[in-house]
Amino acid sequence: MITATRKSLDEIKNMIRPYTRVLVAGCGSCVAECAAGGEKEVAQLVSALSMAFKIEGGGPSLTEVTVDRQCVNIFLDELEDPTRSHDAVLSLACGAGVQALAERHADRNIFPALDTQFLGQTKSPGLWLENCLGCGQCKLFYFGAICPLGRCAKQLFNGPCGGSQNGKCETDSEKPCAWQLIIDRLDGLGALNRLEEIYEPCDWSLKQGRGPRKIEREDQQS
Ligand code: SF4
Ligand code: SF4
Repeated sequence: MITATRKSLDEIKNMIRPYTRVLVAGCGSCVAECAAGGEKEVAQLVSALSMAFKIEGGGPSLTEVTVDRQCVNIFLDELEDPTRSHDAVLSLACGAGVQALAERHADRNIFPALDTQFLGQTKSPGLWLENCLGCGQCKLFYFGAICPLGRCAKQLFNGPCGGSQNGKCETDSEKPCAWQLIIDRLDGLGALNRLEEIYEPCDWSLKQGRGPRKIEREDQQS
């Protein structure tokens, strides 16, 4: 999932202060899972903003709304009228959702309340860890389903740097060495031979350097 964290209250206040009516729009998927942009977080933010603007005097009126996904057009239909009846939108979606909403409303200011962070997993309640960079050419087969790109500090593709201590990364002793994890897992699976296979170098041009990526599926097009 995509993870995100909320911007500071001051940064958010500075963005919306000049407006009269602001729609505060949440997203019920990834950013709700990471407790940054769901219905509950919308309510918390509106309450904090209302209090802050009350203390300093002035500030816009705020309306709360949350849709299932702001990155999927059909759910943005639900925001059509509310967006039109407000002079700005503060979106608690990830960067993809904020831009999708802005694309539909060329005449409205759509502001991000969150900083989008990484692709990752919910490791435990309150803990989210990065584990995939979306490289576009998954090679987890070779690495025992442990990604050296998303989890090795140096994104080494062909083996460890040799600097780990007691299974911990040399760049941060709090973090496990991804290559130690890969080797231990493949060893446990009796599949260390996979590391002897010659696999294609990581084609970074799939991820960057050619502008936004696109997936087009004719079978999904109505
Ligand atoms: S190889 Fe790693 S970065 Fe690439 S898609 Fe697979 S998990 Fe993601
Ligand atoms: S110690 Fe391990 S995780 Fe850290 S940079 Fe070296 S190979 Fe990567």
